[in-house]
Amino acid sequence: MSSKGRVRERVERLSAYVPGEQPSSSDVVKLNTNENPYPPSPAVARALRELDVEALRRYPDPACGKLCRRLAELHGCAPENVFVANGSDEVLALATRAFVEDDGTIGFFHPSYSLYPVLAAIRGVAGRPVELGPAFEWRDPPGGDALFFLANPNAPTGMLHDRRTVETFCRAHGGVVIVDEAYVDFAEADCMDLALGLENVLVARTLSKSYSLAGLRLGYAVGHARLIEALLKVKDSYNVGAPAQALGLAALSDLGHMRRNAERIKTSRRALSDALARRGWTVCPSETNFVWAGPAALPARALFERLRERGIFVRHFPGERTGAFLRISVGTDGDVGRLLAAVNEIESEAKP
Ligand code: PMP
Repeated sequence: MSSKGRVRERVERLSAYVPGEQPSSSDVVKLNTNENPYPPSPAVARALRELDVEALRRYPDPACGKLCRRLAELHGCAPENVFVANGSDEVLALATRAFVEDDGTIGFFHPSYSLYPVLAAIRGVAGRPVELGPAFEWRDPPGGDALFFLANPNAPTGMLHDRRTVETFCRAHGGVVIVDEAYVDFAEADCMDLALGLENVLVARTLSKSYSLAGLRLGYAVGHARLIEALLKVKDSYNVGAPAQALGLAALSDLGHMRRNAERIKTSRRALSDALARRGWTVCPSETNFVWAGPAALPARALFERLRERGIFVRHFPGERTGAFLRISVGTDGDVGRLLAAVNEIESEAKP
């Protein structure tokens, strides 16, 4: 039976977001989805063991009260300034529901997180990409968008936009700005003070990267109580399950674990960036847990495929601005060593 006429035309036409591959074999070096190579805090393992299975017959706290209080304490604000979500992706999706009229537009840089244009298309409003400069540096957006998604540090470039530039933009922008700080724990600066000081700014954060909890699906937003209230109105009733709330609290009780891992990753990031630069690659200055770099000896796509044949997964985004680069998540030093050895082999073979 044909489904023609049942699925909305806009959905039929939609190019869905393409997540990185999750190979079933564990015998791969997985550097394609910016996961943390180190396990979450032992406090999370403990909380998992102590989960009361019987209590799962009840619905979770719809407002994630304990988590809101803990996050408010962490960021020096009130619980009314915090919204907890099923991953920070949910914050982004709900923002398109809460802050954009049907004739409004959603702005974002290009290249940036490839989910942004998809969210605009799902919401059925125009997405307005703003091309970054030739070295992926800041360009002033024209303004006028109901919502602007600003990944900082940016993905997939890994680069951090200057905090003052972001502040000037936020102050001039009439609509809501979501500063998407998914990778900020690996960066030297953040914009949390803008979310707490300006009425139109939300900062979105996640426990997926620095806290090693991508599988848990937990993210949050911080900002003005009126914006937070709007997100609460449009969310699903029970958007975060009880296990995620309990394990998230445990992770947030051990910030030291997260910070130590972030430091290890930053050290490995420097080693990886330096090694690639020595090979003649174009390496963007990374403030994230991945490196955005253009290979020298053969095209990025070819290298991506040759690495994949060897069980080493990195990410390649076809396209005029992105096609010459690979996004390589920073793994353990062992992972980085295997990647560099494979690159060495492949590039040597490619030499005429
Ligand atoms: N923002 C950016 C820039 C990302 O790269 C990601 C990860 N794909 C997310 C948000 C979403 O993270 P999560 O939903 O796991 O919190």
